[in-house]
Amino acid sequence: MKIAKNTVVTVDYILKDAQGDLIEESREPMVYLHGGYENTLPKIEEALEGQAVGFEGTIHVEPEDAFGDYDPNLVKIEPRNRLPTPLEVGMQFEGSPDTEDDDEPPMIFTVTDIADDKVVLDGNHPLAGIALRFTLKVRDVREATEEEIAHEHVHGPHGHHHDEDDSEEGDQFRSHPLH
Ligand SMILES: [Zn+2]
Repeated sequence: MKIAKNTVVTVDYILKDAQGDLIEESREPMVYLHGGYENTLPKIEEALEGQAVGFEGTIHVEPEDAFGDYDPNLVKIEPRNRLPTPLEVGMQFEGSPDTEDDDEPPMIFTVTDIADDKVVLDGNHPLAGIALRFTLKVRDVREATEEEIAHEHVHGPHGHHHDEDDSEEGDQFRSHPLH
């Protein structure tokens, strides 16, 4: 079966930066619904369109096609006491401690530095500004179920698991590629 709109694709990936340094290697394959549902990067879908099990390829993705350019305006310095304890570099928080604007989508801030009574929060995606190189290997292709198409994401093993309240959180790869 070839990868086309409304197929579920299982793919192993190795993610490197443009210098060839390893960023992430999949411990479990990525499983996504193909067809422009924003389950994965459009460039990945483009590379896999029409391919089948066994396909292997490497694609280069510029920041603007991945997680955007690095925006220095998204770096904030906050008083230490506005953040929870314990606090470590690398921790992530949703939203900003000093904004209560409900109209804005929540942003993920990463603690990048802690010094005395100040904390540096970076609202850039950890991969912002980085050109990425994905090596992809297709493991499985199957037709999506009607329910998956209606929900615009994959169900079942490695896919989306609904909570009791049936909330529609996206799969983790989209928002937290670094875990
Ligand atoms: Zn669902």
